[in-house]
Amino acid sequence: MTLKLYNTLSRRLETLEPIEPGVVRLYTCGPTVYDTAHIGNFRTFIFEDLLKRYLKYSGLKVRHVMNVTDVDDRTIERAAEEGQTLAELTGRYCAQFQQDLSALNILPADHLPRATEFIPQMVAGIQTLIDQGQAYTTDDGSVYFNISSYPEYGRLARLNPEQMVVGERVAADDYAKEEPRDFALWKGYKPSDRDSRWPAPWGEGRPGWHIECSIMSTHFLGEQLDIHCGGVDNIFPHHENELAQSRCLHAGPFVNLWLHSEHLIVDGRKMSKSLGNFYILPDLLEKGFSPEAVRYTLLSTHYRKKLNFTFDRLQESQQAINRLRELARRLEEVPAGHKGMAPAVPDAAVAAALDDDLNIAGALGAIFAWAHELFGLLDRERLSGASAGEGLAALGRYDEILGVVFFSPSTLDEEVTALIAEREAARQNEDWARADEIREQLQQRGILLEDTSTGTIWKRG
Ligand code: AMP
Ligand code: ZN
Repeated sequence: MTLKLYNTLSRRLETLEPIEPGVVRLYTCGPTVYDTAHIGNFRTFIFEDLLKRYLKYSGLKVRHVMNVTDVDDRTIERAAEEGQTLAELTGRYCAQFQQDLSALNILPADHLPRATEFIPQMVAGIQTLIDQGQAYTTDDGSVYFNISSYPEYGRLARLNPEQMVVGERVAADDYAKEEPRDFALWKGYKPSDRDSRWPAPWGEGRPGWHIECSIMSTHFLGEQLDIHCGGVDNIFPHHENELAQSRCLHAGPFVNLWLHSEHLIVDGRKMSKSLGNFYILPDLLEKGFSPEAVRYTLLSTHYRKKLNFTFDRLQESQQAINRLRELARRLEEVPAGHKGMAPAVPDAAVAAALDDDLNIAGALGAIFAWAHELFGLLDRERLSGASAGEGLAALGRYDEILGVVFFSPSTLDEEVTALIAEREAARQNEDWARADEIREQLQQRGILLEDTSTGTIWKRG
């Protein structure tokens, strides 16, 4: 395997060469749990899942850490608005996030640390930066990173050095690329921070957003990571600042490959909470779309291209999944000893596409061309039993990467399965009215039943 990935730092494709042979240390910036994550956020998390699944498929071990930002400007503001403690608010959205992750069949990270669990380590890191003369305290008990103390500041985001104003500060966690300033490592306590306060030698307060990831990544993965991911909006200021902090705290490059996924957009604009043009997964499920269709939609466009979200696209995704499910079903029906043709499986084409900076469209193209060939042979009963078995195994392999064919969330499954069983019983009793009623009930929820020789199967329409 020679996996080439686009490194944002060098703006070039580079070959992945794990620091420790056979093991990839992967850090992905997780959600800020002030609200339910929208499907734009999940585009980034699904791109990271594709990367991780392909690394595993290629025989590598992956040590994956995804942080949860449970203290920052937004979480504090929202907790105050809702009259909850920070822990109550973030606990609720963290649970929702985990539910959505599993509904979307995103493989769980080895560690999902919450920022508030690592405050003493952050304080120690900030103290080191102060001791090294790269950070300074201010009258309000805050600590700022001095960007002029780190000559490489701005390399990741390609900032214009003329815009870096020495000595000016920005207190907000998130700010524009046009305003590179000294940024907050620690924010001195203000009454509006309510219960968000922790002790530090220079005064009570809370950490800035960026120091969280520098500390948690190193804690779990060591001083050097193979891959660090996020959405493109993370490049500045978050990753620029994280890189600066980490490079000052440890020798070495910190990260070998920085990967960033493009945005999910709606009518040409980034899907975001602030624009109000967002969908959350529970809403789409309510409308009758399946989590697999959402997953496929977010997965099937190359991660460095903008992806326009539409309902038509979700429907097309469902059709694509249905076709692969249909293929699995038909392959299973071929008798083991059946004589016929033995077409080659497209393992090499799939790997070649994904090795090229995760060209998922190329991989899917190879899989669907192969599926087309198999359907042709199946229709004419010309596929050999051995090849059908091989084909089924290949589909299972590819689905280790895609995660949409042999997966459906258990809650829906159980409900639908129970209704299908009830309908089956009604049919046995020749209670056609009840059988039709159940069919209609399911149809209204976007589920189509098909009675085949081997029993009733269901799919989404
Ligand atoms: P946040 O919870 O705001 O920290 O965002 C979590 C992740 O979602 C980050 O990696 C963001 O870059 C990413 N993200 C936010 N909006 C979008 C979007 N519209 N499309 C893709 N990724 C996004
Ligand atoms: Zn981060």
